[in-house]
Amino acid sequence: MDDAYIDLAKHLDDLPAGFPATDSGVEMRILKRLFTPQEAAIAVGLTMMPEPASAIAERLDMDEPGLSPILERMAKKGLIFSRHKGDKDQYMAAQFIVGIWEYHVNDLDKDLIKDVNEYLPYFMKLSWTKQKTKQLRVIPLSKSISAEMNIMPYEQAEEIIQKQSKIVIAPCICRKEHAMMDKGCNRLLEGCLIFGSGAYYYEKNHLGRSISHEEALRILKTGIEDGLVLQPGNSQKPANICMCCGCCCQILKNLKAYEKPAKIVCSNYYAVINEDDCTACGTCEDRCQVDAITVDEDAAHIDNGRCIGCGLCVVSCDFDAIHMQEKDQAERWIPPENTLKTYLNIAKERGKIK
Ligand code: SF4
Ligand code: SF4
Ligand code: SF4
Repeated sequence: MDDAYIDLAKHLDDLPAGFPATDSGVEMRILKRLFTPQEAAIAVGLTMMPEPASAIAERLDMDEPGLSPILERMAKKGLIFSRHKGDKDQYMAAQFIVGIWEYHVNDLDKDLIKDVNEYLPYFMKLSWTKQKTKQLRVIPLSKSISAEMNIMPYEQAEEIIQKQSKIVIAPCICRKEHAMMDKGCNRLLEGCLIFGSGAYYYEKNHLGRSISHEEALRILKTGIEDGLVLQPGNSQKPANICMCCGCCCQILKNLKAYEKPAKIVCSNYYAVINEDDCTACGTCEDRCQVDAITVDEDAAHIDNGRCIGCGLCVVSCDFDAIHMQEKDQAERWIPPENTLKTYLNIAKERGKIK
């Protein structure tokens, strides 16, 4: 039966986002906690293209009436992704991150949390940090950007939200799992805005609740007041906006451990201090989620290698002593047009497709 898990681990690693193996084998423990052997064997038969149960049944040499309820149950358990198209349900593979892990937001236990926290630094080291295209990018707070800057609509959270036809708000799994281990930070718990087909999946499987544009904008405002970094999906039509803290967010928390997080994130801005206006009050140092700011007796100083261009320090400085600066043209990140292209890029960069 272990073979089913070995095949599943390889299958997940062949998906764009990857699921790299570790020496400790912690990733196999995670799979055994989440999937039954039968579910593992079925998950291997799914691709990143949504398909009806009949096509998957044919590939797996199973009968459709027997397979359909299992696929439906697996989608409910957060092991695969499903959507409704026309009058048919369709199913596709879910990646481990972003995907299976996040779909377990309402189904966490301490053993699973411990294993995933052991695994994620490896995931970041062996997969996320390796490819140029990340699954998430960092956008600046709109209020941190001056009118004359050339900010694109896909870099403004409010614009992204206004364009959506379906929005779901879901609990933030990073803050939830940290709270369950008594390491929470009490910031906004409902912190994941999900759009499009992902929003329908979240709603159908009770992972979040459908909200209006007005409520989404109110939640965004609360997230900003709570000092959260805005990380949308890395495309011009993002499927989500994450509102993240440096203490719980598995992406930021792990990036912080690197010497130069700025070199790893996809971001187009950085913060600059005007030392003449700075009173060395220290607010920005507390606000920065990636420890990019240090304050001495004279002024605050920003480490450009660490600044991820979130703008939190700019909006929290009462003395207007910080402003955002656009990166040079050569360094600017233009996100892929849509999420499919983002994942095709990641798959190519990981050598999974040509
Ligand atoms: S911390 Fe950020 S990445 Fe993690 S679940 Fe919350 S919103 Fe998403
Ligand atoms: S918040 Fe403003 S004034 Fe205070 S240390 Fe930072 S830059 Fe200086
Ligand atoms: S210094 Fe910190 S808070 Fe300011 S923009 Fe950079 S990462 Fe964000």
